[in-house]
Amino acid sequence: MTELAHFINNALVAGTSGRNQPVFNPATGESEKTVALASADEVNTAVAAAKAAWPAWSKTPALRRARILDRFKSILWERADELARAISCEHGKTHDDALGEVTRGLEVVEFATGAPHLLKGEFSENVGTGVDSQSIRQSLGVVAGITPFNFPAMVPMWMFPVALACGNTFVLKPSERDPSAPLLIAKWLAEAGLPEGVFNIVQGDKEAVDTLLHHPDVKAVSFVGSTPIAQYIYETGTAQGKRVQALGGAKNHMVIMPDADLDMAASALMGAAFGSAGERCMAISVAVPVTDAVADALIDKLIPKIEALKIGPSDMKGAEMGPLVTSQHLDKVHGYINSGEADGAKIVVDGRNFKQDKQGCENGYFIGGTLIDNVTTDMKIWKEEIFGPVLSVVRRKSYDEAVELIQSCQYANGTAIFTRDGDTARAFSQDIEVGMVGVNVPIPVPMAFHSFGGWKASIFGDHAMHGMEGIRFYTRIKTTTLRWPTGQRSDPEFVMPTLG
Ligand code: NAD
Repeated sequence: MTELAHFINNALVAGTSGRNQPVFNPATGESEKTVALASADEVNTAVAAAKAAWPAWSKTPALRRARILDRFKSILWERADELARAISCEHGKTHDDALGEVTRGLEVVEFATGAPHLLKGEFSENVGTGVDSQSIRQSLGVVAGITPFNFPAMVPMWMFPVALACGNTFVLKPSERDPSAPLLIAKWLAEAGLPEGVFNIVQGDKEAVDTLLHHPDVKAVSFVGSTPIAQYIYETGTAQGKRVQALGGAKNHMVIMPDADLDMAASALMGAAFGSAGERCMAISVAVPVTDAVADALIDKLIPKIEALKIGPSDMKGAEMGPLVTSQHLDKVHGYINSGEADGAKIVVDGRNFKQDKQGCENGYFIGGTLIDNVTTDMKIWKEEIFGPVLSVVRRKSYDEAVELIQSCQYANGTAIFTRDGDTARAFSQDIEVGMVGVNVPIPVPMAFHSFGGWKASIFGDHAMHGMEGIRFYTRIKTTTLRWPTGQRSDPEFVMPTLG
């Protein structure tokens, strides 16, 4: 049994806390690895390494920092396959899906290589006679990232490329369920020439997280995960005087208007609801057909597609969906379907009966795609995030009713509308209170040079991830007002200085 270690000062460091937990292969249900769970002392060692590395790294010209990230980007391109395999064997997603995750992370690295331009300051000449003014963006110091299981490579890459490009040093606490991919990333960053201590990993659970949240040398915390933990991270971190961005859970609705291209909408729903077994914070988990006629036609199109889903391990040829991440999560998703049934919703396609018969995978955490009709807003399956391959249908009679439904949801990460009507699409994208909106695009994940973040209970804190929001989060502004002696005598000024 191998134990996955921490990574500090560009080297693997074995855990010393005496605590660990198994890491499973969700496709087989077997475990051949454990992951170390850091003690407070081990976290302190990682933070100390990052603190020691910060003065030199923050003074390294942005162009040189960017060049190291550029070399890391080339390594990622060359070894994307290896990283995708590391993701799939602990997360369960298909190989192609994992490759997509690597690409989306890599795009943030590409964005961060623009650091010299992105960090350019502002300068005003002659703000007063003989006086100039400049504003620059400086790094914060040691920053921490705490990440979820569902994108073990991409979500850390939403954070650290931008943080490092800005001159910060980084301590990552990845998900304890799939910690191998971040370790490969750390190894490749070192290979690309990143100095010791600039990027570190502590494996762990609540103990590691709480130590980071209370550590006086950690200046900012980026978090992605479920809403209750996001809220806890935000409240605890900000109470300690830290800058915090904490992205939480989601319940994403897709409105299908009567004028939509129904084949396009049905096909989009398949990928958006069942891709990655629904374990995406931008997955569509609620279809909102406007009128019963649209609902009936849409369901007729979806049933055969869901029944034909190719479900299997990540290396199965043509696999469209893998297993869920753990047996506990599988039980939770079963529990939600049971609760929907008990509450009177109609189980149209039932994934609970799915059996995986591929040899070696009989004990994997598989479930079939599930479609539930007649879901209403008083049901737990609408109110809570399921995070599995379960698509609920909430029927609505009009566009206004569909909008009202979405506005009443506590989550506001992503949403989409399928329509051919420009007025409707424009009104929807202007008025809907959701952070990321798609028009005939089911999963509107912003590109790296825009920013990713929801609204309401899907985010705590003021800054979204990557793009210019990332640069703002990982820097603080300093404005210097400059005057040079000209030899002229000046008398003391006792009134509030005005320069004009
Ligand atoms: P999670 O909240 O259970 O865990 C996230 C991180 O928090 C992990 O590193 C975990 O070790 C740590 N953690 C868990 N419990 C903790 C506690 N009590 N105290 C301190 N730290 C704790 O989330 P998950 O199950 O790994 O990921 C799935 C969730 O993440 C879903 O809710 C999903 O919507 C959300 N997510 C959101 C986004 C987004 O951008 N909004 C993106 C991806 C995932």
